[in-house]
Amino acid sequence: MSFEALGLHVNIIRALTDSGYTKPTSVQEQAIPAAIEGRDLMVSSQTGSGKTAAFMLPALHKLVTAEVVSYDAATSKTPNQERQAARSRGDKPRFVAAKPKMLVLTPTRELALQVTTATDKYSAYSRRIKAVSILGGMPYPKQMQLLSRNPEILVATPGRLIDHMESGKIDFSELQMLVLDEADRMLDMGFIDDIEKIVAATPPTRQTMLFSATLDGVVGNMAKRITTEPLVIQI
Ligand code: AMP
Repeated sequence: MSFEALGLHVNIIRALTDSGYTKPTSVQEQAIPAAIEGRDLMVSSQTGSGKTAAFMLPALHKLVTAEVVSYDAATSKTPNQERQAARSRGDKPRFVAAKPKMLVLTPTRELALQVTTATDKYSAYSRRIKAVSILGGMPYPKQMQLLSRNPEILVATPGRLIDHMESGKIDFSELQMLVLDEADRMLDMGFIDDIEKIVAATPPTRQTMLFSATLDGVVGNMAKRITTEPLVIQI
């Protein structure tokens, strides 16, 4: 099996070739075609299995090919258009909420940064796509600056994301894809209420992909609650 055979866009294949990836790992082979089709996923897999690419490559493919529904020009403006319109009306500059298309939740800052770095690598030939990390411990002005670029992809730890949601800096009304990475660890770290709150703020029509070392017990129950007819992959 090759990455081409999985149906990925040529710009993504080029980036994979640059990264020295010659063929998909088992979790990638199973997850990528289903995720491109728009299916929800419940995946039990370990770090090292290639799980980051298993969710990020199909997501990038959908963003690059604009299969993801874009702003409806008739009813809403992009944040950049809103800023321009505000300027031409002579309004005071104000912060316009970021409207990401994809959100990746991770238990730790380190994992969030790894996911963002991998995303930058996979999207090296897809310059329209921006990914930023929203992390506890990072200064707020820096995060506001990152959010003001209106990235398509947010990679975040739950606590800090909630702060920004509650202060109106992030608007999930355009969100198409939600990933919970290392969901079991997020629950072990006590993020269940934050996760529930975040999920509730996203459109029910979203595609949900959940990755966890185990799909038993509490994490399995949560996975079933937040996914719709998921493809279950056990590596
Ligand atoms: P992950 O499980 O996502 O943490 O990935 C583990 C490591 O495998 C990372 O260093 C990736 O860059 C690498 N990797 C992921 N997929 C592939 C692949 N298809 N071929 C070669 N390396 C890969």
